[in-house]
Amino acid sequence: KVRVRFAPSPTGGLHLGGVRTALFNYLFARQHGGDFILRVEDTDQTRFVPGAEEYITDCLGWCGIIPDESPAKPGAFGPYRQSERKPSYRQYAEQLVHAGYAYYAFDTAEELDAQRKDQPNFRYSHENRMTLRNSLSLPVEETTRLLAEGQPHTIRIKIPMDETVSFEDMIRGRVAFETNLVDDKVLLKADGMPTYHLAVVVDDRAMEISHIFRGEEWLPSAPVHILLWEYLGWKNEMPQWAHLPLILKPDGNGKLSKRDGDRLGFPVYAMNWIDPKSGDLTKGFREMGFLPQAFVNMLAVLGWNDGTEQELFSMEELVSKFSVDRISKAGAKFDFEKAKWFNHEWIKRSENTALLPQVRDILDGHQVITADDRYLQAVLTLVKERLTFVEDFWSQAAFFFQAPTEYDADAVRPKWNSEKTRFFEEISDAFSDVTNWNAQEIEPFFKDKISASGMKVGELMMPLRIMLVGGKFGPDVFQIAELLGKSETIARIRKALP
Ligand code: GLU
Repeated sequence: KVRVRFAPSPTGGLHLGGVRTALFNYLFARQHGGDFILRVEDTDQTRFVPGAEEYITDCLGWCGIIPDESPAKPGAFGPYRQSERKPSYRQYAEQLVHAGYAYYAFDTAEELDAQRKDQPNFRYSHENRMTLRNSLSLPVEETTRLLAEGQPHTIRIKIPMDETVSFEDMIRGRVAFETNLVDDKVLLKADGMPTYHLAVVVDDRAMEISHIFRGEEWLPSAPVHILLWEYLGWKNEMPQWAHLPLILKPDGNGKLSKRDGDRLGFPVYAMNWIDPKSGDLTKGFREMGFLPQAFVNMLAVLGWNDGTEQELFSMEELVSKFSVDRISKAGAKFDFEKAKWFNHEWIKRSENTALLPQVRDILDGHQVITADDRYLQAVLTLVKERLTFVEDFWSQAAFFFQAPTEYDADAVRPKWNSEKTRFFEEISDAFSDVTNWNAQEIEPFFKDKISASGMKVGELMMPLRIMLVGGKFGPDVFQIAELLGKSETIARIRKALP
């Protein structure tokens, strides 16, 4: 059975790359009728941030990436927080020590810091492990004594010398690592907590994970994980890996970081994140006005395409069309303008009713209290395709709720004359005769009057718009007039006349 997991560490806001990782796991699970698991990797207590887990759950919920099993919805493989699985890890670390694949290390943090000061490239490895304080370098009695005394210690993996570790990545194909370049990673910390490396392997097996989609930044850890699967005797249960391409800065120069967002003026996190210590706010896509469909769509095509020109995909389409073969190896440049385009397209495709609550909030914020739902929906139908964010509703549609108080006079004044004044005076009276006040009637009526006056249609369309809207923007002017209603249209023309 396909079982995949998203395994974030609750250390702060959720970067869009994290959401994409969750999404690809989720799509793969849905496509194969499998399970998608949320596992919270909180073994590093020094980096634990209160509230981060709830925040991650909320982000996934907002995106519609709903886990089948999670801390909030435990299945048969719980607990789903690694800190709550603490007792399960030590036995495996000890097992590795007894099999000769790992060893106790007694070096204190100060000793290791001193080493690092001497050698900035210090790595605990086969090159120097015999000169450090561990069960490989010390006499057996000494190790036994230190352990009996309860000396704080870690357990480190003994990475072999001169070997090549390789595996078949679902995206990259064969990937190989020289073990001489890998250091003896800590597996169990002095506080008895496992490190990420041990916990991830133990839990992926315990939770019967079949496939792992994770960011490319974890590729260097893969040899450690593969050795652990092997050393623990689980090699034939090993899941398949897919390391997802990095999300790059807009200029392609390196990985997109949180700081890039601050610098370039776009969000990098899924939702607003307030750091509980500093109180600092990092802006998120949700609060910036992105629809979840747009956010998900935009993420899906960062490093994946379906092989056609199609760019717009709903979650259902992604589930059916997603394929690992079409994930690229190369990093994907993040393009905020493109992200906005996705939002614009998804707003256009949204049902009016889905946008109404947000639109109501916007109107409330401007003290507009009239406006029934039918009117709002009609306005939305007219302006929807002009919005990048739902928030743009006000700038695009305020004139539907209040008469303009300012006019873009430059748009009409240079060519204004008394003939035009007279025309609008007359038409404001004549409009009363239009019985069916709708665009199909108003337009020919207006145009016929222009012909009768001897002027050109082109000269009078913009003035009408400026009178009704205030500026040179908005949807079809006759549709605007229809929605405003006859008396409001007439009133606005009269009000605007010099
Ligand atoms: N806890 C790791 C993270 O924060 C998970 C990496 C993995 O998927 O193996 O991303």
